[in-house]
Formats: sequence, C-alpha cells, structure tokens
Amino acid sequence: NNIVAIVGRPNVGKSTFFNRLIQRREAIVDSVSGVTRDRNYGKSEWNGKEFSVIDTGGYIKGSDDIFEGEIRRQVELAIDEADVIIFVVDVEEGITPMDEEVAKLLRKITKPILLAVNKVDNAMREKDAYEFYNLGLGEYYTIAGMSGSGTGELLDALADLLPEPEEKDENVEALPRFAVVGRPNAGKSSFINALIGEDRYIVTDIAGTTRDAIDTTYNRFGFEFNLVDTAGIRRKAKVKEDLEFYSVMRSVRAIEHSDICILMIDATRGFEGQDQSIFWLAEKNRKGVVILVNKWDLVEKDTMSTRDYEKKIREELQPFTDVPILFVSALTKQRLLKALETAVQVFENRKQRIATSKLNELMLPIIENYPPPALKGKYVKIKFCMQLPTPTPQFVFFCNLPQYVKEPYKRYIENKLRENFDFSGVPIDIYFRQK
Ligand code: GDP
Repeated sequence: NNIVAIVGRPNVGKSTFFNRLIQRREAIVDSVSGVTRDRNYGKSEWNGKEFSVIDTGGYIKGSDDIFEGEIRRQVELAIDEADVIIFVVDVEEGITPMDEEVAKLLRKITKPILLAVNKVDNAMREKDAYEFYNLGLGEYYTIAGMSGSGTGELLDALADLLPEPEEKDENVEALPRFAVVGRPNAGKSSFINALIGEDRYIVTDIAGTTRDAIDTTYNRFGFEFNLVDTAGIRRKAKVKEDLEFYSVMRSVRAIEHSDICILMIDATRGFEGQDQSIFWLAEKNRKGVVILVNKWDLVEKDTMSTRDYEKKIREELQPFTDVPILFVSALTKQRLLKALETAVQVFENRKQRIATSKLNELMLPIIENYPPPALKGKYVKIKFCMQLPTPTPQFVFFCNLPQYVKEPYKRYIENKLRENFDFSGVPIDIYFRQK
C-alpha cells in the first residue's frame, strides 16, 4: 500500500524514470484519466517491498506551457497522498527557478524525499551534480534514467524507507475489507452514513496532513466487515479536474487496501470515464467489485428501466461483465442491506477454493467436447487442471503445448468456470502450463 510519487518540472526525465521503475515487473501501467490530462500509475517491487508509483507530472496534452501553479499543485498532491516523494532534477539544466520553488515546498514537510539528479552519465556530470546540495534537501542520488545507471542505489534507499511487509496470519479468518469508491458526489459518504448510522465523514480542509487508509470494523445487519477509510481529509481543490484527480488518488489507495470495491455511480450521470478508470483499477488489482447505481430515487422510472440501464453499464465493462449491479438510494435507504449482502457474497466468491477432483470432473469433459483449435496441424491436449492456492482465483491447465492456447480459448474456459461456479464480481486468472 505504499505510494511513491515522482515530482519535478517537465522534461527532466520523469517519464523515462517512471517507465524504468515499473519495468521491473509485469506492470500495471496505464493512465488514470483525469479530465484533460493523463497521469501514470504503475506497480513495482524492490528488495521485497511493493509499492505503487505515480507520475504526478501529467500536463495538459500537446502543450509545453507549464505554469508555476500547475507544478505547485502537483507537489501538493504528492505531499498529501504519497508516502515517499522522488524529486527529479536535470543535471544538464542545473537548478532552475522552478526547481527552487519545488524544493521550497518540499523543505517544509516531514515526509521522506529522495532527490534524484538525472542525466548523470559520466564523471564530469557527477561533479556538476554537486550544485544540487544548494536545494537544501540533503544527499542526492545521481541517476541516468535512460541507461538505468544509479537507479539501483536510489531504489535501495527507497526500499529502506518503506515499512516491512505485514506478515499475514493465515489462521485468522479475515473479515471482508470493503472500499467504497467512486467520483465525488456519487453519494459515498451518504451511503456509508446510512449504512453505519453515524456522521463520520466530516469534510475538513486542513491542508498538508494525511491519514493513511484505516480499517474500521463494523457489525451491521448481521455482517461483520471492515470499511477501508482513506484519508479523511479532503483538500479543497480549486480546479474541478484537481478534485477529480484527488478522488482517483484516494481511490488508488482504498482499492489497494481492500478485498472488495463498492463502486458507486450517480444514476443521474451514468457510467462515465472516471468510473471506468476506477473500475479498471479495481480489476487490475484483482479486487472484487460490486457496482451500486445510487440516487435511483431521482430517476423517472418510465424513462429508464433498470434493465436498460444495466445493459448500458455492462457494455462499458466489456469484457469483464460478470459484475453485480444494484440500484440503490443512499437517501431513501433503498436496497442498502442488499448491497452489503452482495458485497459479502462477492468476498466469498473471491476466496472460494474448488476441489481439484470436482474441477477436473467438470472441466475435462467440457474441454474434450470443445478442445483448443489445432494449430499448424498440432493438437493441444489438456490433461489436468487445478486452482492455485492464491488469494484471488487462479486456475492452471496443464497441457502439452501451452503456447498454442490463445485468448479466445482462455475466455471460453473462463466462461465455463463462471457458468458452473459463482465468481460474479471477481476477476479470474487462467494459465496454461506444461506439466
Ligand atoms: P460523495 O462525494 O461521494 O461522498 O457524495 P455525498 O455522499 O457527499 O453526496 C453528494 C450529494 O448527493 C449530497 O448532496 C447527497 O445528499 C446527495 N445524495 C447522495 N445519495 C443520494 C441518493 O440516493 N439520492 C439522492 N436524491 N441524493 C443523494
């Protein structure tokens, strides 16, 4: 759940550095779309410490203009949301006024900061880098994002700053961890308040302070669960798209900390780009998802039926359509119990383990009936399958020619699994391996 933010002015090589960081692994790279800009988000791991990297430097596309206010917001965002900040500067340019501005903001905070002096690819440059002591941020790391030199030392330092991963006690029956996510004004706070019966999402405007995601255990309607509360602070964003992005940042943290994401959308607005980003994040992180279409009390029932509405949402979810969608109202408290019940069910679906004998009895005849198509005259023979003992459902099929099994067949297998077992709301991974 560690978040590392990369800050710095444009053209210092933040993106190259970002790509290098997340290359270490089959990364989840994509941009979380804001309104007019994209920001990068990826996953990485070093010395056994996992972290998410956010390249906060998304600027208005196709424009080289960079306003001071823009960079200030970028840094404030990092200060609010990240655990560690990597500040990238460029040795070729030396210290620019904008670097000084950023340093000034960073000197005021107590969060760990790593100063990365980029484009240092020879001894001469090493000497030039001395000048960055003048930023008043202490020791720096010289790197060359392009070749990757120096990034190892920087990452060692980063890993040292991150907490040791928590030891999971397998014997303790874990409670479902729900994160309520969605766009601003979707009704998340209203939903939570209605659910747990108290006003606990109080909006405050204290700048520069952050709380980490916290689990609070609740027992409601006979269910015990943890609600993942992200930073209770909401910065008063001056710009609309900032507000949107803050909410995405907060969602990232909540999603990573949860088992199940309760994605709330506003029925009067529909399933929009931002909703899709959040859904995508949950799916990539292999979390269970329940979609709540909130404010259903405001929708004229004769203009739009639940069935039509649901169909439209499912189109947006392609190809991952097996997700529970419920129509609720946080205001009139309609179907909130059902929502909770469904979330608990998705949690159960996600952790179910299917006995190997049962799985083979079911799947082998299905495969026999419709085997993978032959390729170059060769036949794929699937002999055996099993579910792996992983936190999220993963199935492995052992066969002679795994490389011959293509996406459409994997989807066919996935559909068959979903037809026969309840995995609704849960992403499934399917692998073909040689025994
Ligand atoms: P959040 O930003 O997602 O936490 O959204 P809030 O819970 O603050 O709700 C935003 C606005 O929508 C508030 O004015 C709520 O009163 C209103 N609202 C929330 N849920 C409902 C609902 O089910 N029906 C109606 N009519 N209004 C709602």
